[in-house]
Amino acid sequence: LLNQSISELNNDTQVSFEFFPPGTPEAEQTLWKALNRLAPLKPRFVSVTYGHGEESRQRTHNMIKQIHDRTGLIATPHLTCIDTPAEELRDIARDYWKNGIRHIVALRGDAQPGRLNTGQSALDLIHLLKQEHDFDISVAAYPNVHPEARSPQADLMELKRKVDAGASRAITQFFFDVESYLRFRDRCVSVGIEAEIVPGILPIGNFGTLQRFAKLTNVRVPYWLQRRFNGLEDDPTTRSLVGASVAIDQVRVLSREGVGEFHFYTLNRAEQTYAICHTLGLRPPEIEHAPQQPALQTANG
Ligand code: FAD
Repeated sequence: LLNQSISELNNDTQVSFEFFPPGTPEAEQTLWKALNRLAPLKPRFVSVTYGHGEESRQRTHNMIKQIHDRTGLIATPHLTCIDTPAEELRDIARDYWKNGIRHIVALRGDAQPGRLNTGQSALDLIHLLKQEHDFDISVAAYPNVHPEARSPQADLMELKRKVDAGASRAITQFFFDVESYLRFRDRCVSVGIEAEIVPGILPIGNFGTLQRFAKLTNVRVPYWLQRRFNGLEDDPTTRSLVGASVAIDQVRVLSREGVGEFHFYTLNRAEQTYAICHTLGLRPPEIEHAPQQPALQTANG
């Protein structure tokens, strides 16, 4: 039975990996280590998030250019628009295009106290980017509904507008109950959204941090998940193993439900993401194409 369920996994699975811009030379080394470990899994793209301060934003631009120049991977910047005048966004877009960047994750971002709020939404940013060049655009989607949405239906229709405006893929906020993703995918189909709804997978490392973040982003944390991490507050190694096993369960069910593409919030660490991808059947090419050892037969077959 176990062998059967393994062979049911889809071998054409595609993945993408998300990183955040490192703030120190050590953090930059950690990121490169993770990227080098994950790159042989041939991700469809790798993305770098976009923070709030100028320095952090510059780090995103720099990382993207370095990944593009040094790895040959499709380096994909996240870009937010809520606190940035349109002309500045155009300059950023032109600069990316000039440097060979063709794929952008287009987001609104969150208003920050004391900062400019232009009132622009992700939809406005998609229009702006498409006016500049024919970028390949990914957008955000929310299986547990965006905290500011007027209703689940309004949230869904905003996603439809983003796809109709030219987004070719939606990446979801992380989630833990697979049912909520599957229902959301059905609802997307029912309103005519044809773009891929790529599940965003967050391998849990620190449960306390996760709970705080989930509260801010309206993501449901099921009781069973809380119980899974209960008592591991001072045990990061076991937490990491449990976190990977939770995500492995998640991707295996999703894979059987026909999901062929996953986006990983790596938090600049490779170990859990690599293990999860491995169970999805992803292998570096040199292993994938190595001659297979014949399987040993046991007494009961
Ligand atoms: P939008 O799609 O513009 O709006 C979000 C929601 O608000 C809509 O779904 C809808 O419910 C409601 N809404 C907006 N406009 C309307 C309207 N006109 N009518 C009705 N409803 C409306 N943030 C960062 O700062 N940097 C990042 O790098 C980053 N990366 C992310 C990556 C992913 C995959 C995800 C899921 C989120 C990311 N975020 C990031 C967070 C994101 O910026 C926030 O969730 C933000 O609050 C909303 O951004 P959005 O692009 O979904 O906005």
